[in-house]
Amino acid sequence: MTKKIVLASNNQGKLNEFRQILAPLDISLHAQAEFDVPEAEEPFHTFVENALTKARHASRLTGLPALADDSGICVNALGGAPGVFSARYAGEPKSDQRNNQRLVQALADKSDKSAYYYCVLVLVRSADDPQPVIADGVWEGEIVDQPRGTNGFGYDPYFLIPALQKTVAELDAKEKNQLSHRGQALRVLFEKLR
Ligand code: IMP
Repeated sequence: MTKKIVLASNNQGKLNEFRQILAPLDISLHAQAEFDVPEAEEPFHTFVENALTKARHASRLTGLPALADDSGICVNALGGAPGVFSARYAGEPKSDQRNNQRLVQALADKSDKSAYYYCVLVLVRSADDPQPVIADGVWEGEIVDQPRGTNGFGYDPYFLIPALQKTVAELDAKEKNQLSHRGQALRVLFEKLR
């Protein structure tokens, strides 16, 4: 029987990506907006706590199993910043352009430009599930000071994959999914659910 799962996000891109990779599992994945679930707060300092909170919130309000993700970019010379604060690195309202400007400025006098994208996925079978399924993924690269490419979102135009000599914004969606932190985490989750 097809299992209904709510995705604790309203991002259509993520929904499509998750549906594609989980397709063989006979799961129907639904955006939380379909059930009028408002966005949960993300007050924590770890990705996993934020993802777990989002998953429990969506499950509590729908009565369904819930999948949540939390992700960000961590820059080594900045002690892992912006990390969990990636979406709002340059303050409110959130702006990719201002976030990227702030990041390039923060790295202007640093020789180490290495960074990584991180993603954690959490699946709960019920709101108080004592054994959430957790999977994560890391994608390493470095920050460049001039944007390249128009695909993707967020920090992608400034995130260079050295082995490809391309920024993530220069990859198409399929290439990105094969390599990305989110794609890796999803494939780990897939194996755990199978
Ligand atoms: P969230 O997990 O959707 O809240 O994403 C957190 C933030 O991390 C995003 O708003 C982006 O700034 C950044 N981020 C996460 N994943 C990516 C990615 O694949 N490309 C570019 N930026 C990302």
